[in-house]
Amino acid sequence: MIPPAFDYHVPKSVGEAVALLGRLGPDAKLLAGGHSLLPMMKLRFAQPAHLVDLNRIPELRGVCEDGGEIVIGAMTVENDLIASPILQAKVPLLPEAARLIADPQVRNRGTIGGDIAHGDPANDHPALSIALDATFELEGPKGRRRVKAEAFFHGTYMTELAEDEILVAIRVPAFAPKTGWAYEKLKRKTGDWATAGAAVVMGMSGGTVSRVRIAFTNVAPAALRATAAEQALLGKPLDAATLDAAAQAAMAVCDPAEDLRGDREYKTAMAGQMVKRALLKAASRCA
Ligand SMILES: Cc1cc2nc3c(=O)[nH]c(=O)nc-3n(C[C@H](O)[C@H](O)[C@H](O)COP(=O)(O)OP(=O)(O)OC[C@H]3O[C@@H](n4cnc5c(N)ncnc54)[C@H](O)[C@@H]3O)c2cc1C
Repeated sequence: MIPPAFDYHVPKSVGEAVALLGRLGPDAKLLAGGHSLLPMMKLRFAQPAHLVDLNRIPELRGVCEDGGEIVIGAMTVENDLIASPILQAKVPLLPEAARLIADPQVRNRGTIGGDIAHGDPANDHPALSIALDATFELEGPKGRRRVKAEAFFHGTYMTELAEDEILVAIRVPAFAPKTGWAYEKLKRKTGDWATAGAAVVMGMSGGTVSRVRIAFTNVAPAALRATAAEQALLGKPLDAATLDAAAQAAMAVCDPAEDLRGDREYKTAMAGQMVKRALLKAASRCA
């Protein structure tokens, strides 16, 4: 299918892109990797009169360190997350999880910023960002502001981004020593979105859970932090009873949509299984 006609704009800086968004108004859409936007345009779910292509803005790409934080440009593609020595050393959850996203072709063009900005609860980076306690940098006509990942996702395809703002960077705290991590993603086949996914970042001390963040993919209208499950774990050893209590608390807040991947009961049960597996794997990496 061929998308409807649009005008094409190629800014060379973030400032130029923000100015274009202001001038063109709500009929303009930002283009990153195009792997979510172009299918929507072909299906006529999105019909922007203008596309503002972010691919020629070098400052939006790459991974660097800033104090104790890792700063990832919004236009960094999945394959560059996987290959990044900084991420492999300081936030290994991201390169490991990026390998589970889509397929090699999509990972070659699809960007972390596009994955987040799209606001699709089936995308993996929203839950990963929440588990990692990431902060997003947004730039608009009034300058830059920072928003915690947890406060960014308002609902399906709804985010904190205003129409004239650009997601510029994702800031992630480097892992403290002895941090355990895991992302467990149930999918029907390679290249599929999650039926249910669970991201865990945690620490253990004296045989009990001393810190933990848990977030879910595709089991609610937006990426979901499971705070009650976190509370059920803190100060406890990771035995069968604690795992069950955490999974039950997590499943209680799941609100998945029924689709070809399964009905609500199945997806909720799978969320419970994914979080148990992720907790066990993460705990085994805390040493
Ligand atoms: C076959 C297939 C399988 C896939 N499987 C998965 C999967 O398993 N997991 C997963 O997470 N994703 C999956 N995806 C989605 C893929 O990761 C997309 O690349 C991603 O959702 C969007 O990133 P993009 O760079 O392609 O953005 P685009 O499609 O270009 O943009 C998406 C939306 O975000 C907006 N946008 C983009 N960048 C910015 C920015 N910097 N600031 C503000 N707004 C912005 C655009 O205007 C648009 O509305 C899959 C896609 C395909 C085609």
